[in-house]
Formats: sequence, C-alpha cells, structure tokens
Amino acid sequence: MVFEGLADKLQGALQKLKSKGKLTENDVKEVMREVKLALLEADVNFKVVKEFIDKVKDRAVGQEVMESLTPGQQVVKIVHEELTALMGTTHSKITFASKPPTVIMLVGLQGAGKTTTGGKLGAYLKKLGKRPLLVAGDIYRPAAIKQLQVVGGQLDIPVFSLGDKVSPVQIAKEGIEHAGKHGNDVVIIDTAGRLHIDENLMEELENIKKVVIPHEILLVVDAMTGQDAVNVAENFNNRLGIDGVILTKMDGDTRGGAALSVRSVAQKPIKFVGMGEKLSELEPFHPDRMASRILG
Ligand code: GDP
Repeated sequence: MVFEGLADKLQGALQKLKSKGKLTENDVKEVMREVKLALLEADVNFKVVKEFIDKVKDRAVGQEVMESLTPGQQVVKIVHEELTALMGTTHSKITFASKPPTVIMLVGLQGAGKTTTGGKLGAYLKKLGKRPLLVAGDIYRPAAIKQLQVVGGQLDIPVFSLGDKVSPVQIAKEGIEHAGKHGNDVVIIDTAGRLHIDENLMEELENIKKVVIPHEILLVVDAMTGQDAVNVAENFNNRLGIDGVILTKMDGDTRGGAALSVRSVAQKPIKFVGMGEKLSELEPFHPDRMASRILG
C-alpha cells in the first residue's frame, strides 16, 4: 500500500515527541531530521522536503508551541497541517460548465492509465447523475479505440469514434456536437499518449485545446514512476496549462513521492487517485484524509 514505509517512519519519529512532557529546540530538530530522511526516502522532491521541514521547524520552535501543555502533540498537529497543505489543503473538484456539455480532456503518456481512467471518470460522473460521453481521440495506439469501446460497453456509457483515419481535432469537435445532440452533459476526450513527451504529442494536444476549449484538462500520471511523474506534470503544465492531475496506480507499491510533490512542483492540484485496475477504483483526492492516513 502506498505510503506504508513513510507512514511507519513518520509515526515512529513523531511518537517520540508525543510522549515527552517538555520539549527543547533540539528535540524538535532531531525529530525533524528523521522526518526529513523519511520524506526523502519516500522519493519526495528534495526542494519540497526542504521547504516543508523549514516551515514545520519555524512553527514548531515558536513560543506558543514550546510553552504549551502538550508541545509534542502541537508539533504533530503542525506536521499534519503542513502535510495537508503540501497536497493542496482542500479537495479540488471538477468544474462543470454553466452551459453543458462540460468538456474534459484527458492527457498523459502512454501506459499511465488514461483510457482506463476515462472509463473510471465516466462511471464516477454517472453516479453523480451526469450523462457522460467518451470520445476516442487516441488514433495512434493500436487497439486504443477498441479498448475504450469495451470500457464504455462495460459501464453502459456511449463511446464516440470516427475510427483512426480522421484527425483527433476533428474527432473531438464532432464528439462535442454529438454530445449536444444526444443530451450528454459531459464529454471526456481520450487523447493520444506517447512513450515520451515529444513535440508532435504536445502540438496535437495544443491543437485540440485550441479548437474545443476544454473546461478541464486533466493529466493522468502513473504514481509508480515517482519523480518522473512530477516532471511530466511540470512539463505538461508549462506547455499546455493543465487544471489538475489524476494519479493512477496508487494501490501499487509506490513510495508516495509523486503524491506529495506534484502539487508544489507543478502548482496544480491532484483531483483524483486511481486505486486499482477495476473501473470503480477511482477516488476523489482529499489532502487532509491522505495526511491522516500517513500520520495515523
Ligand atoms: P493508457 O495507455 O494511458 O491509455 O493506459 P491504460 O488505460 O491502457 O492503462 C495501462 C495499464 O494500467 C492497464 O493495465 C490498466 O489496467 C492499468 N491501470 C490503470 N489505472 C490503474 C490503477 O489505478 N491501478 C492499477 N493497479 N492499475 C491501473
């Protein structure tokens, strides 16, 4: 499970503070050294770790904390608050268009879980009472269209496709028109992923963005790739301007670094996390709950 190692280490370090009556500045510093190591071992970006530790230390060695009746618990509370802030403080929701359909464009590298996540997102929105349409805009990966159709069939969500001979820009445009005519109030556009970020991929995504003007561009990244995921997020955001991140494979053996770094580095919130291969395994991301999970 994600964060297992980190959770053990952080809880172990902070436990030492909790059990102490009075605290010295040195006690705090020592424990924060352990916290720092635990975060670095969990593959959290080093700049993010440094800022985090500085902030916690600043607040923790303040008079109010040190002179309180339960300084150890106060420090734990500060760590909890700052971990939450690191991941974005509050839950970031999808912005729906005032005039439907809401257009969501899913982008990301091949294998990140984009197609699966498109289906998962559709299922999630359907539960909210929406009528989503999936649009098959990945015309390059063999079988991507078929895969989306299978996913749509399983969820009873319609899939719009024009095959693989029409440009993705045209497919996206016609998909939205189709939604308008058929009462679909959310359009989820699956786009092509490449093995690496390259000029062709970005240009194509920019072209789709220009033509359809999506309400949400969500980047799907694989949490298992750690700091690579964070770099991908930064790159996509610089080039395309994303609205949020969906971190997939959070059920896997990831150390959690991506989840803790992506917000600070790319300046965009994590909106959902993928927690398994099943189409029901997508969860809205709540920073405070994730912090509680880490700190026990
Ligand atoms: P795409 O190339 O980005 O469209 O990726 P796919 O949707 O085909 O997914 C690639 C692989 O990742 C598939 O085997 C999915 O079942 C798997 N996958 C996607 N999301 C998750 C997740 O949240 N957890 C796990 N364990 N596997 C996932």
